[in-house]
Amino acid sequence: MKKIKLFICSVLMVISVFLPVSGLQAADPVAPDADIIIDAGHGGIDGGTSYGNILEKDINLAIAKKTFEALSNKGYDVILNRTGDYALSDHNSWLKSKSRHRKDLAQRKQLAVDMKPQAMISLHVNWSKNKNRHGAIVLHQADERSIELANKVQARLNLLYRDNEKPFLGKTYYLLNRSKCPTVIIEMGFITSAEDRARLTSNQGQNEIAKEIAAGVLEYLDSTTKDKSDSTN
Ligand SMILES: [Zn+2]
Repeated sequence: MKKIKLFICSVLMVISVFLPVSGLQAADPVAPDADIIIDAGHGGIDGGTSYGNILEKDINLAIAKKTFEALSNKGYDVILNRTGDYALSDHNSWLKSKSRHRKDLAQRKQLAVDMKPQAMISLHVNWSKNKNRHGAIVLHQADERSIELANKVQARLNLLYRDNEKPFLGKTYYLLNRSKCPTVIIEMGFITSAEDRARLTSNQGQNEIAKEIAAGVLEYLDSTTKDKSDSTN
């Protein structure tokens, strides 16, 4: 079933090359519903940040797949927007822009517009000149639900990192500004910190991070479902 969903997602990406944006509405029988979209940051020519030969795009994808598994196992419909090492800009023929970066970001955002999920999480890795800087940071939109989602995920990752980081408003981030569903960017740790790097690149560390992200997302979904049932009572 998971394989099928991943497959449908790849098919959708291919279809989106041939269809105008309006051809891929959520009502389209080809487009499956999604509860959660996981955006695996960067890909292909865009490696993101790096440390030696360790590339952010590979860490993002590995943890995105594990988070996909964790959330799918709980019965949610999850879409992972890339399942391999490629740039999403290659799938975007609808945006008339010469900027590959802009096409890439627009494609990530458009998937959320078409799917209308309850939440979108975008996975990234941080970089700092200060090698002692470590831990996870979640960025949110200027929206109550996005803040709620960020708080839940941040609290979970703080437990893992034994940290006390606070989420903050990602004012200048395209995805946060353009996405219509509650969206957060999760900086899962610093590639420049030896401790974080060990966690971000080991199978066990990646499992731990994915588990906490999934737990935060589930807590958020639970709380929004409760809000809905409260207001109808
Ligand atoms: Zn990044």
